[in-house]
Order: sequence, then C-alpha cells, then structure tokens
Amino acid sequence: MESKLPHVGTSIFSQMTGLANQYQAINLSQGFPEFDAPDFLKTRLAQYSEQGFNQYSPSSGMSALQSQIAALVARRYNQTVEPESTVTVTSGATEALFVAIQAITQVGDEVIVFDPAYDSYAPAIELAGGKAIHIALRAPDFRIDWQQVTNALSDKTRAIIINTPHNPSAKIISQSDVAQLKNLLIKHNLLLISDEVYEHMTFDGQRHFSALLDEEIFARSFVISSFGKTFHCTGWKMGYCVAPKNLSAEFRKVHQYVTFSSFTPAQLALADMLKEHAEHVDELAQFYQQKRDTLVQALQPSRFEILPSEGTYFLLLDYSAISQLDDVAFCEYLVKEVGVAAIPLSVFYDMPPEDKIIRLCFAKHTDTLLRAAEKLCSL
Ligand code: PMP
Ligand code: GLN
Repeated sequence: MESKLPHVGTSIFSQMTGLANQYQAINLSQGFPEFDAPDFLKTRLAQYSEQGFNQYSPSSGMSALQSQIAALVARRYNQTVEPESTVTVTSGATEALFVAIQAITQVGDEVIVFDPAYDSYAPAIELAGGKAIHIALRAPDFRIDWQQVTNALSDKTRAIIINTPHNPSAKIISQSDVAQLKNLLIKHNLLLISDEVYEHMTFDGQRHFSALLDEEIFARSFVISSFGKTFHCTGWKMGYCVAPKNLSAEFRKVHQYVTFSSFTPAQLALADMLKEHAEHVDELAQFYQQKRDTLVQALQPSRFEILPSEGTYFLLLDYSAISQLDDVAFCEYLVKEVGVAAIPLSVFYDMPPEDKIIRLCFAKHTDTLLRAAEKLCSL
C-alpha cells in the first residue's frame, strides 16, 4: 500500500519519552506536567460518570462547557462570543487543528506554516490534499520576515497558522507582527488558524495576543486551545475551537465525522472547574514563571547558553560550547549518558538548520528540575 504520509515516522515526543523510560532518565522532553490535575476536577469527573453522564454529548459540546468557554473569553479578552454557534469542544487541540485544516483546505491549496512548528500541522495539511509552505524562523530571536511571507503567497494560499506563545521557541508574537499579520490576512483574503494552547502561560507581565482580541482578525480565524495545558490533564485530550459562526459551521461538518463529540464527564467537570475555580487559570502564568526561574537559575553555572522563555513551559538551550554533535545525537547522548531527556530543535523544521539547540520542558516539580540541572551542569 502506498503511504499517505511517506515522510512521517514515529513522533519525536513518543521516541524521547520511550528512551527516557528505557534509560530511567529525567524526562524533560515531551511536554506534559509532572504534577496531577486539580483534585476538584478529578472528583467532579468521577462524580459525573457515577451519576450516569456516560453517553454522547451534543456534537459541538455540552452547553455548560460552551458557556464557560465563552465566559472565559469574556473575562480574559473582554470579547463576547456566542457559545452555541461559535464554540466547539474537541478531543484536544490536536483534533481542533486537524478539523480546522480539513475544513478549509481544498486539494492544491497552500497553507503558510512558520518553522519551528508543532509536528501535527504539516501532516494534517497534506492529508487534506494541501501543501504546507514552510517559512523558517531562525534562533535565537525567531524573527518573522514579513517580506518573505508576502513573497511566499500565491493565488493558492488559503491560510496562515500561528502559534503564540510558541512551542518550541517560547516566544510571544509582538504587536508589530500582529499588525503585519492583520494586513496580510485582509489584503490577501486569508484565513488564520491561531494555536493558543499556551495562552495562559506568559511571563514577566507580557500579555498574550489572542486572535479573539481583534474583531477583524477574529472574523477570519479559528482560535484553538487545550484544557490539557491549562488544567494539567494532557491525557484527557480535551480542547476547543472558537470561530465565527460561518467558519464554525464548516468546522462542525468535519468534527462530526472525526470524533462526533468528546468525553462527556470531562466536559461537565471542566465546566465546573472554569466556573468555580477561575483563579486556577489566572494563577497559571505565575506558577510557570516560578518554574522557569528555578530552572534558569539552576542552569546558570552550566556551559549552556539559555535562550529567553517568554511563555509556554519550554526553555531552549544552546549547547555549542559543550559539544559539536548534531542536536539529535546530542539528545541521544543526554538521555543515555547524562540521564536527562530533551527534544532536539531541528525536528520542528522542514529544512533543519544546523543550530545546536535543545528544548527542555519545565512543567516539573522543583526537585526534578534541580536534579536535571545538576546533571546538565556537570557537562
Ligand atoms: N499545539 C501545540 C503548539 C502544542 O504544543 C500541543 C501540545 N503538545 C498541541 C497543539 C496539542 O494539544 P492537545 O494535547 O490538547 O491535543
Ligand atoms: N505538545 C507536546 C510537546 O511539544 C507533545 C504532544 C505529543 O506528544 N503529541 O512536547
């Protein structure tokens, strides 16, 4: 059988977590929290299941959760969205990204993707019969050259995907980039897929730019987020998409044939969590900023060059003063010989640069971060 994704192998996240387990290394590779979901959330999940909420939810989501997502949007971004027609609950942000891409991509369409990019974007575009047009952003500042983006547009360009705060660079999109993006979207009549799964994790007082904040941008956007990141429950695979009514209608046509609906008891538990524990969301930035600072401080004596982390739960380290190995080989060495698992930056590129940079996830207990830093400082 001919493969539909001939260039795709097993994801680096599965590979590195597998190696971390095999070598009993400290796993700072795959992005997931070491700490558990809040007790309140777990208790509500169990209660709703016990009470018999175990059948399909409406395809676009339980109305209690749609309403709480709309309330979250109102509280965080001061925007009014109509829950019933614009909010769709999905099985993780991954499903929302896949569905949005399938919904808008016709065979031959082009979609602009900024590399380094989350690994699911390009395969989803390919499966829709489209073509990912990769624009490489280079370390250390990952600056967007808007002239290059303009030059990459063609009459087949359908959409742009952005991710802010950004995995893996940990950058937040700047105001001037937002202005350039808006210009381009309007001038060339493009759609935007805005991956905002780390929306509540921004540091040093920086504000998250949500596509929901600008009416003209939102009019052409799919805004995607994930409860896995916000409530430390990545294994629940719960997320959502907010999009204007016309785009949501197309999104829902695809969503109903991908999963139809998502885990009902989790939807109800998440609705209660959002309603009764809004402070969890508001405290997340501070919570992760402390983790970032703990790791950065513990790595100060090391020979790594630490790149700035403005948001997400990731930190990039340049190891050129330590080794000349390429980043995949260096990560293998780290996991096998040093006892720390990391992710090589090059895997997020279509055309990998030769940078010597790795990504660490700091969604871990202080003790774990300190033990990992001690090992890395020995290099
Ligand atoms: N987008 C980005 C940038 C991510 O880092 C992740 C999670 N690794 C996702 C999407 C997927 O989120 P979920 O686990 O909710 O599918
Ligand atoms: N988003 C996570 C990361 O970047 C991994 C998610 C996954 O394993 N698919 O590490």
